[in-house]
Amino acid sequence: MKKEGVRLISVTENIDENPSGEFIENVLVAMAQFYSRNLAEEVLKGMKEKFERGEWPVKAPIGYKNVRDEKSHSQVVEDKNTSYLIKQLFRLYATGQYSLGSLSEEMAKRGLKTKNGKLLTPEQIKRILRNKFYIGKMVMWEEEVQGKHKPIIEGSLFNQVQNILQERKITQDKWQKRDFLLRGLVYCRNCRRRLTAEVHPRGDYYRCQSSVNHKCSGKYIPTKFLEDKIGTLYTLMEPPVKLLKLLKTEIEEVHRNFQAKSKNEILNLKRKIAENEAKMDALVDNLATKTITPEVYKRYSQKYEKEIKNAKDRLAVLEKDYSSNFDFIDKCMILASTISKLHKKFSFRQRKNLAKALFKRIWVKNRELTKIELNPPFDFLLRNQTRKIRSTFPNLVFEHYPLKPTKEEMFEHLVNSVDSLSAPLIESLLKIRRGGLVKFDKGLRCVM
Ligand SMILES: [Zn+2]
Repeated sequence: MKKEGVRLISVTENIDENPSGEFIENVLVAMAQFYSRNLAEEVLKGMKEKFERGEWPVKAPIGYKNVRDEKSHSQVVEDKNTSYLIKQLFRLYATGQYSLGSLSEEMAKRGLKTKNGKLLTPEQIKRILRNKFYIGKMVMWEEEVQGKHKPIIEGSLFNQVQNILQERKITQDKWQKRDFLLRGLVYCRNCRRRLTAEVHPRGDYYRCQSSVNHKCSGKYIPTKFLEDKIGTLYTLMEPPVKLLKLLKTEIEEVHRNFQAKSKNEILNLKRKIAENEAKMDALVDNLATKTITPEVYKRYSQKYEKEIKNAKDRLAVLEKDYSSNFDFIDKCMILASTISKLHKKFSFRQRKNLAKALFKRIWVKNRELTKIELNPPFDFLLRNQTRKIRSTFPNLVFEHYPLKPTKEEMFEHLVNSVDSLSAPLIESLLKIRRGGLVKFDKGLRCVM
């Protein structure tokens, strides 16, 4: 039964993980529920005694293996099939040339992978590098003892690795507070996955999520390189204020025409509503005087009610008050005409929000911008600058709102952008502007 307990632990645990005392006790508690409390306590007692003698009571970490000697005593010995990988891992990390992530990739090439053939996570690599088992010590139940097993890593190398881990931890704490301008917005054109942003001692970069497992050949893009390109793009994207003013006039014109056209329809709808309401009244009277049966009442009342509802819905569309929509479009136009200025003046947080407000997706391939998808209404407001942009970014395409919309379609698209997901973000950016960053007048003139 003792064996039973040990086996239970071995199968549950990961190759690269050192089971903690707490973990073992949890397993034994579970075991006690299946067998008996006494048995679990016996097993635990046995394991603790073994540990005190300097023998490892559970499955050995990678680099070692559990074997039985001729007297059937279990012991831990070096596993030559994996120990050289552990030695390489420590030596490579000690050079200071690898991050945990890049070390994981390097080690995978050399054969250190999980059971499923995947890369070890940075966290798993770190656990190996921190494991004192490799210098002959054993830590369990918050206790450290000298083990009987042979160390495979020298103390000096181990200490050197601990120093680097510690240094990196301090810098990483600083880095983690850092955020990336385009995190969440950049996608790989090869495999359509989102790029992740990564901190690296030799310079931060965006990279394709599947490049780690070599499924995608998407290249690493230094963050600064890509962010500078976006900065350049901003200056090219800005439409002239003149053009925006023209567009504004057009929107107002469409709205006026729409109102004029709807006048008759509104009158008709109101008449229709009144008629159907009168019919409903008559129907109620007929039911009260028993001129009609309840079945007939039900059938007709449903019909009239439906007609009233349809008319009211349509009326709501025609009589809609667009003033808040127009207000929002004004703001977006101001934003569109000052993107690069804002980008330069904004704080990091604001710059990030600006990018989020504008871009739905930024597609890259071989370190080049290849496609831009903009959020409404910018997909329309910024559509005319494509030619100017093409001279600097010849391979960049913009996914625009349909190229030749009718005036009515354009109007719909713009006024409905107030309901888009990025609208609150745009509002918040402009509030900041009103705080003194930018002044603008009704004629869309901006004074920075
Ligand atoms: Zn990719």
